Amino acid sequence: MSTDDHITENDPRLDQALAMLHQARHRVTQPRVAILKALIEHEGPIKIEDIHQKVEAHNCDLATVYRCIAAFEKIGIVRRCFFPDGSSLFEFVVGGEHHHHIICTSCQKVENLDVCVVAGLERLVHDRGYSNVSHMLEFFGTCEDCSEDRSGNP
Ligand SMILES: [Zn+2]
Ligand SMILES: [Zn+2]
Repeated sequence: MSTDDHITENDPRLDQALAMLHQARHRVTQPRVAILKALIEHEGPIKIEDIHQKVEAHNCDLATVYRCIAAFEKIGIVRRCFFPDGSSLFEFVVGGEHHHHIICTSCQKVENLDVCVVAGLERLVHDRGYSNVSHMLEFFGTCEDCSEDRSGNP
């Protein structure tokens, strides 16, 4: 029995994501399921290279991970987040609440901000006649731990 299987085996979010794949006429393959599990398990934005490390054992090469994530993004299973260095991370968003992130530019730690400050703005755009309105907003800063480290070395 592998250790990573039992955690998300009965997770309703996995079933929900598989239903979305099915609805979008994507086949449910072993690599896709492995990637979904890795995403759910990680709980937060993750780099494609890091997903690849988690699913390598499932005969899943890097190109496959890229293709799957691109498909997941299109269907709305994952959301892309941008880091200040220009890299993209992907977060599993099925069954989760809309939220934003605060990212430490020093140690790359990511925390959730559960309040959305721009929901009103989004309604404004909607009122202009736009449909399928969405937004991206990330906050960047230096976390408390990293600030303390620095204050010790003036
Ligand atoms: Zn930090
Ligand atoms: Zn928002």
